[in-house]
Amino acid sequence: MLAIIARTGESCPALVDVPEPEPPGEDEVLCRTLEVGICGTDREILESTKPRVPAGSQFLILGHESLARVEQVGPGVDSFCPGDLVSPMVRRPPTPHVRADMLAFGNFTERGIVEEHGFTPPFWLDRPEHLCKVDPRLRSVAILAEPVSVVEKAINEAVIIQTARLAEFCDDWTPRVLVTGMGPIAFAAILACRCRGWVVTVHGRDPRDSKRATTVGLWNADYVPMTEDVTDQFDVERDGFDLVLECTGNDRVMLSSARHLASCGVMAWLGSSRLPRSGEHDVSTLMRDAVLRNHVHLGSVNAARRDIIDALAHLGDAIERWPQAADAMITTRLDPKESLWHYQHREPQGIKAILDYGCE
Ligand SMILES: [Zn+2]
Repeated sequence: MLAIIARTGESCPALVDVPEPEPPGEDEVLCRTLEVGICGTDREILESTKPRVPAGSQFLILGHESLARVEQVGPGVDSFCPGDLVSPMVRRPPTPHVRADMLAFGNFTERGIVEEHGFTPPFWLDRPEHLCKVDPRLRSVAILAEPVSVVEKAINEAVIIQTARLAEFCDDWTPRVLVTGMGPIAFAAILACRCRGWVVTVHGRDPRDSKRATTVGLWNADYVPMTEDVTDQFDVERDGFDLVLECTGNDRVMLSSARHLASCGVMAWLGSSRLPRSGEHDVSTLMRDAVLRNHVHLGSVNAARRDIIDALAHLGDAIERWPQAADAMITTRLDPKESLWHYQHREPQGIKAILDYGCE
């Protein structure tokens, strides 16, 4: 069966033939791939030419965003049945029942990213504790559960922090939200915030009449082309934001969007450069504002089960309330055999490209 792989020393992905898995053993589930998402992490792994391959393997099988169907369950599995739709969790802790997303960096594996093969083969085995059941009504959008869960985590962490420290001032934190960027994580952020009923503004590089800027409008969110800095008329308390979801991973964008953060606001960093380059930036304004206005800057990676459950619930809300907008998130469907170009390039105006394995 086919798999899409990354090899040490090579920046091009390859299609290879790998053996089919054995029938599921004790406490194992055999899954059939329905869809796989391609994202910036896959492109970064390839670009680095140093994939974190599993012990004893010459390559890493890619694919960490997956929607699958349970094909067969092994002895002792009673939480899943053949036919169930599942979304697998990416990160695996060394011992069960810990919150893998909060483990110290390096103290875990990640399927399709860190030392465990991913989900591009048409069949793979997993353990039930790493699978989340998906309502069949979410079939058309559930491939987005992983990227949406990453944003849900950052938002849930921000809410926990704000609820703890602002209890005296507000019962229910309802932030004005700024999302920076126009990639899949930015659109996941718009979805997660609109489903919470929050007002959202998006800053991006696209002109207002571009396809992606129009898609922002489908969420009843405001789109404003990114400017380098605030104007003299800008009053951060009146015109600013209480939550900034920084989805570009660009240091200049982060610094400029920090100027928009009102007092007691939170900025969550959802992107970064895998190969950080040094540059000259003035961070003194960021520090001054953070001190005088009680800002929190929050880094966030991966997601807990709680966040995947929220992602699936919000995807369900989204297809009911903003069906056109939810539909517009998946911009390209590919035959896995013809998908390799997309592992190295982004389509202009594309949001999420997925591999479609042609199963009902
Ligand atoms: Zn991803």
